[in-house]
Amino acid sequence: MARREFPRKVKAAAIARSAGKCEKCTAALKPGEGEIDHILSDILGGEPVLANAQVLCRVCHAAKSADDLRRTRKADRQRDKASGAIRPAGKLRGPAFPKSSKPPREARQQLAPKLIYASRTTT
Ligand SMILES: [Zn+2]
Repeated sequence: MARREFPRKVKAAAIARSAGKCEKCTAALKPGEGEIDHILSDILGGEPVLANAQVLCRVCHAAKSADDLRRTRKADRQRDKASGAIRPAGKLRGPAFPKSSKPPREARQQLAPKLIYASRTTT
């Protein structure tokens, strides 16, 4: 799907609304300096409408775009996992249990059977 940019009217309205300030950090912007950002990025379903537009300074926009990219990658991974395009990672394999230091069962010394029911010798 092609990226849907803001129409010129929406851009103009957003710039007017911002009144020459970054809408995030309120830094003063020189004319033409503001960058119009999709609040919810286009890739994640954000519409190119005024309600989804904000005027940001270059610094805020760069930070926001990096975060959007991270969220987009996560959405991609989740979709691919759900569709089966990526197989889930297997269980973590730790080292096997160490071999027992006890000798094998046959080699152990046989104990004499315990007398549980000893016949009582009457006094
Ligand atoms: Zn800013």
